[in-house]
Amino acid sequence: MQFSRQNKPHPDKDNDVFITCKKCNRRSKKSQWISHYYACPVCGKLKNISANYRLSIILDQGSIRMMDTNIMSQDPLDFPGYKEKLALAKEKTGLMESAVTATGKIGKQKVVCIVLDSRFFMGSMSDAVGEKVTRGIEYATKHHLPLIIFAASGGARMQEGIFSLMQMAKTSDAIEEYERNGGLYISVLTHPTTGGVTASFATLADITLAEPGALIGFAGPRVIEQTIGKKLPEGFQRSEYLYQHGFVDQIVPRNQLRDTLKRLLRLHGMNVKEASYDS
Ligand SMILES: [Zn+2]
Repeated sequence: MQFSRQNKPHPDKDNDVFITCKKCNRRSKKSQWISHYYACPVCGKLKNISANYRLSIILDQGSIRMMDTNIMSQDPLDFPGYKEKLALAKEKTGLMESAVTATGKIGKQKVVCIVLDSRFFMGSMSDAVGEKVTRGIEYATKHHLPLIIFAASGGARMQEGIFSLMQMAKTSDAIEEYERNGGLYISVLTHPTTGGVTASFATLADITLAEPGALIGFAGPRVIEQTIGKKLPEGFQRSEYLYQHGFVDQIVPRNQLRDTLKRLLRLHGMNVKEASYDS
């Protein structure tokens, strides 16, 4: 499956539509948001973006090939109301699950790219998500391809109980096998990355990048404060705090991500061309 590129900054035909930033409360034209890859043109606050849009701003135009598009949750526990919620999420997002996996090229270097879409059950890890992520990693292992994962997750899918938790071990094992075969794994942590995804594949990379201001952690700040009975430091669990404490290697603004990934691939011996978005 292939879809057309939609990311290239361009004037939007609805440029009389304004979007208000939730952080600075300033209103900006939608076309300006698009030209900044959905970062606030005034303060830089990022809006969450869909997995397909993410692929389109990272991979070379026309190179995207979706993988395993028919894998979806089977509701293994027959959890009350879950099937209906899944149907709603599918209708709302046009996705079968929160994980989107694809091959594509960055500067003509083929890569495997996995993206979690926070619009679908907060990017939580179902058995289907674990299976898709694992298959993507295994494909990268088999074909000796660089692996890039964009994490965004609320953690485990509570409606799937132990089947969800099992995915932590399964995906981590697949990463271990990938690394043993000498693969290059770059993880990009986006807002929010929490729970079982943080505690498994998202934080096992050779290089860990993060978008500015992203919430990254295991348990939420309120749970931690209640558990330890202390107030947490300012900015705790945000990208910048984690960078200062050595957990994240670099914070990369969204409009610099593709160039940063190209540079990293080139530094690791890949034949990355100076291809523009149009290549
Ligand atoms: Zn703003």
